[in-house]
Amino acid sequence: MLRKKFWFSITLMMVFAALMMAGCGSKETTTPAPADPPKTNGDAGKSEPGKTASKTLEDIQKRGKLVVGVKYDTKLFGLKDPGTGKVEGFDIDMAKALAKKILGDENKVELKEVTSKTRIPLLKNGDIDMIIATMTITEERKQEVDFSDVYFKAGQSLLVKKGSPIQSVTDVKKGVKVLAVKGSTSTDNIRKKSPDATVLEFENYQEAFTALKAGQGDALTTDNAILYGMMKQDPNYQVVGGTFTDEPYGMAIRKGDTGFVTYVNDFLKAMKASGEYDKTYEKWIGEKPAP
Ligand code: GLU
Repeated sequence: MLRKKFWFSITLMMVFAALMMAGCGSKETTTPAPADPPKTNGDAGKSEPGKTASKTLEDIQKRGKLVVGVKYDTKLFGLKDPGTGKVEGFDIDMAKALAKKILGDENKVELKEVTSKTRIPLLKNGDIDMIIATMTITEERKQEVDFSDVYFKAGQSLLVKKGSPIQSVTDVKKGVKVLAVKGSTSTDNIRKKSPDATVLEFENYQEAFTALKAGQGDALTTDNAILYGMMKQDPNYQVVGGTFTDEPYGMAIRKGDTGFVTYVNDFLKAMKASGEYDKTYEKWIGEKPAP
């Protein structure tokens, strides 16, 4: 009886040991060999020690294209020429430079149209990898997206027809109609500054400017840099009164992708160090950025 029990335990132990070994063996043989890093002329494939991985960067690399949400309605930053179909501006050049850094080719970029209202939902949905679209970094927006470091400094101002009695925000009182764009910081800011004025909201900046020219309002309000673009489009209009807010622009990135934020900030630093940033700034804004 005792003998039987002894042999039974020995058999059990051997079966158990065999199973364990089989388990280990199968694990070894089914683990796929690590894939080669993707071949690229850019440097997204490089794994730099100490840097966090980025889901967005991986996706861009796999697809071979960077998809950026940009404005189509904003001269100097992102404006589509209806004749050529080309979208051009400071933000567009920034997007191209980033595509060059990631993929080795500035043409490997898809420029998808966003408006002030649609940009955050499109980023959250995954329709775009990032936003480069005259977007102010605010605490409220930080709840929904992450931002790069500041890449452009603007401030809110007013555009009026030459000869207008409105010369600064203090003239925007009861009875004055101000035009602005939905989803922009400008609508909230003007309501705070001039609570008695009437604010009319439009889908995009070209619509708002067309409305101003049609006499539907007394002034158009948004960032000075955007208003300078409109002034170039029609010199009968002028920017007045200086700025009454700070609007630091950031590139918006899907919340939580800190690896991509770091990557974009390194890109901005390198662009500034090489002088390419200043060149691009001067090309669109007509002067060197303030130090
Ligand atoms: N910079 C402001 C904002 O982010 C106004 C320009 C815009 O609408 O994009 O809202």
